[in-house]
Amino acid sequence: MNQLPDVIECLRTSSLFSGIGEEDLLLVAGLLHRKEFSSREVLFRQGDIGTQMFLVQSGHVVSMARDSDGNEREVYEFGSGRFFGEMSIIDNVPRSATCEVLEDSVLLVLDAIDFYRIVWEHATIGVRMLSSMSKIMAGWLDEASVFLHDVVRWGETARRRAVMDELSGLFNRRFLEETIKTHFSRAVSAPPECALLMLDIDYFHEINDAYGHEAGDSVISTTGAAYGNLLPENCVAARLSGDEFAFFITNATRSDAMELAEKIRAHTDTLFLEFRNGKEAIPARVHLTASIGVAVSPADAVSFSDLYVHADQLLFKAKEAGRNCVQPHS
Ligand code: GH3
Ligand code: MG
Repeated sequence: MNQLPDVIECLRTSSLFSGIGEEDLLLVAGLLHRKEFSSREVLFRQGDIGTQMFLVQSGHVVSMARDSDGNEREVYEFGSGRFFGEMSIIDNVPRSATCEVLEDSVLLVLDAIDFYRIVWEHATIGVRMLSSMSKIMAGWLDEASVFLHDVVRWGETARRRAVMDELSGLFNRRFLEETIKTHFSRAVSAPPECALLMLDIDYFHEINDAYGHEAGDSVISTTGAAYGNLLPENCVAARLSGDEFAFFITNATRSDAMELAEKIRAHTDTLFLEFRNGKEAIPARVHLTASIGVAVSPADAVSFSDLYVHADQLLFKAKEAGRNCVQPHS
């Protein structure tokens, strides 16, 4: 049976999608998974990592959270047209409540990666969704509440926070990982042709130790901005943590990946930053270099985790080989 008209009708009546045109509703409907749940089924538990948000097409879901005394209390009940589970995927925080289905229900499930895609690639839809989310959250609170201001600000910056790493200006680790996982899971007939570059700044610790954490942070923001300018369209770049970055390239051969890696390495080699060791000190010129591991699918790995591990191992080899180099093969 074609479920699409019912899904579209649910989107049309949900406040989450108010003001969104029919064509865009169709696009969103194509990203939702319709799932049936039985009464008392637990969707997720407080503290779990969130990878999906939900919209109730029919039925009821209840959310329960433990208070400071350890007692579980009902927080909200969601009926048809209501959505939940969005905070955890926007702010990358564990689930704040346990959600349980109260009666047999039909839910529309949106994977985090598709939510990120909507807010990022279809900004007109994303901005409306986020604005509806913040309005609804504000409605839950007392108008006079001091939280109101925070909620409005939360809505304004949520789109960026969901996917970006503030310091480098590149995407965050989670967005990159979800992008790669989805890319592999959607390539059903054969592993996709793609590549992962894993980069780590050389001797970053020494800059932190000699000139302080702020100097280290400016290395991350300088390299992040520089890398952002070097990327082809089919590349998603992210800061993984500390001084480690990754670049995921779709439809790329090993030679495409090596070419980009070499470009990034060579550009890093041209970067010099000035730091002082105290106000009176003469500024020192610090030269940056980076090491890069390059793994490709399907030649080196045929799954997300293997590609990740392989690129990381090759990065380690690049460090062992003396740094400021690109390591293509094991
Ligand atoms: P290598 O050439 O082997 O990579 O040596 P390294 O000194 O760069 O060593 P490593 O990559 O392990 O150093 C990472 C350091 O980054 C460790 C940690 O103190 C620091 N770090 C992690 N996050 C941040 C951050 O957000 N800002 C700053 N300034 N430093 C960070
Ligand atoms: Mg390093």
